[in-house]
Amino acid sequence: MTLLEVRDLAVEFSTPEGTVRAVKGVDFTVGRGRTLGIVGESGSGKSVTSLAVMGLHRGAKVTGSVRYEGTELLGAPEETVRKLRGRRMAMVFQDALTSLHPYFTIGDQIAEAYREHHGGTRRAALKRAVEVLGDVGIPEPARRAGEHPHQFSGGMRQRAMIALALSCEPDLIIADEPTTALDVTVQAQVLELLAKIQQDRGLGIIMITHDLGVIARVADDVLVMYGGSAAEQAPADTLFTAPRHPYTRGLLDSLPRLDAEDGEALRSIPGSPPSLLDPPAGCAFHPRCPVYAANPSPLCTGERPLLRQVAPGHQNACQLDEVTV
Ligand code: SF4
Ligand code: MG
Repeated sequence: MTLLEVRDLAVEFSTPEGTVRAVKGVDFTVGRGRTLGIVGESGSGKSVTSLAVMGLHRGAKVTGSVRYEGTELLGAPEETVRKLRGRRMAMVFQDALTSLHPYFTIGDQIAEAYREHHGGTRRAALKRAVEVLGDVGIPEPARRAGEHPHQFSGGMRQRAMIALALSCEPDLIIADEPTTALDVTVQAQVLELLAKIQQDRGLGIIMITHDLGVIARVADDVLVMYGGSAAEQAPADTLFTAPRHPYTRGLLDSLPRLDAEDGEALRSIPGSPPSLLDPPAGCAFHPRCPVYAANPSPLCTGERPLLRQVAPGHQNACQLDEVTV
């Protein structure tokens, strides 16, 4: 069942230097029990996309359509969006230390968020906070609920953030780089926790990350973004076994390999992400694209490539892809 349906979403900001086109028309859907991975470098538009979905895009011009279980959120009264946010859709951010308030106990913060949406007594809300802290694997939750964020380790803080998001029993969680600040072992534990919660509650998840390794662990479907546009979109197994966009292939080549020799240099994609104020003509990836470098086709510098279907369920925005549908 579809929870979230996003169509032709575009986000622009005015700056003194000109208009920043941060997102230029992306489409995706998230179903109950499914995880959509959105992957790209910083400035690819992945975080801006999630903020626009949550209605947290102050000062930006947002167009297109964002439907939550059929209800259009773009242009809806603030009250409608505010009710959905937190209660039906919740966000987990990268840095729990800046997202949690330093002065209040973890338990109070979860209880307050819960009461804002569900009302009830403070006592009942605190009980609920202790329950969800236990659900996310925090030992001695009744005692730890009385502690402040700085008394938690990085991994425990991230669990507390997830507990905060879960306290209102949302159907959809948007997690923006939720494990980036954590070491590899703790990262794996937090991803496992999200997967378990998803299984238990049938949550839809949008996982936003620059790390294809994270996507490989959790995603059912993947949207690869570059310079504010969709570069490639496919089920995760297809994307990893048969990637078609040169940018996706570059990202995959830069993943650490299990069979890598000791000391073998990690490859990364040369060059830097495009300017969103003054993007390259045509395909925004062309200044870094090895296919273009080998064969500088005018197709790459003409029209901006849009996604098109290249195999069943698989869409690619590369002009030089030989379509095989
Ligand atoms: Fe590379 Fe051209 Fe394809 Fe862009 S359109 S990814 S520059 S080959
Ligand atoms: Mg970001």
